[in-house]
Amino acid sequence: CGIVGYIGTDDAKEILLRGLEKLEYRGYDSAGIAVANEEGVHVFKEKGRIASLRKVVDDNVNSTVGIGHTRWATHGVPSRVNAHPHQSETARFTLVHNGVIENYEQLKSEYLTDVILHSETDTEIIVQLIDRFVAGGQSVEEAFSHTLSLLKGSYALALLDKQNVEVVYVGKNKSPLLIGVGEGVNVIASDAMAMLQVTNQFVEIMDQEVVLVSRDDVTIKNLDGTVMTRSPYTAELDA
Ligand code: GLU
Repeated sequence: CGIVGYIGTDDAKEILLRGLEKLEYRGYDSAGIAVANEEGVHVFKEKGRIASLRKVVDDNVNSTVGIGHTRWATHGVPSRVNAHPHQSETARFTLVHNGVIENYEQLKSEYLTDVILHSETDTEIIVQLIDRFVAGGQSVEEAFSHTLSLLKGSYALALLDKQNVEVVYVGKNKSPLLIGVGEGVNVIASDAMAMLQVTNQFVEIMDQEVVLVSRDDVTIKNLDGTVMTRSPYTAELDA
């Protein structure tokens, strides 16, 4: 299982699919991508191999930002519905997640009793919570970091906001996740190998940091909102 993300100037869907193919070795039972453009966020997902996902991706959707996921099911059977990305009720937010949220039932009964979940995953509550907190008046960044502070368990996350597709929100806890940096392009990957097609410069992120990734900038903040500066390292791998 693994996640990828891309924000740049090239065709996002092809880069995401290639990235997911590079993560195939980690094992998975389903996969999906979400790409955003001025028409909105387009989600494609499928049970089985990346080759099966490729068949359902609409070639005509052009986008330069997106997120992708290979799933190894922990909560809910392998199926198209349970495959990531998952969306909030309003469809404003779209999320991919690797890992296990141990307290998802508790969070559901504390905050989301009136929400009908579409999937059987532990992941969906994360994206519903973010939407709920934004509806309650928090900024997306506040809602994202507030939600992270409530989660118990492991996660690598990437979030798209339909209302601002110039940034991808990223966070991790006990699951691997790297940011790849380039010129006018930045990427997200569970393993550098997935994004060597774009860059070999990677920045490590630490547990519970909140990272805002745009085309020209990567901002890393720790839990109390302090901006962290960290230089990229060169990944010595063959693409
Ligand atoms: N726990 C999530 C699910 O079952 C994510 C699994 C994964 O890491 O792929 O959907």
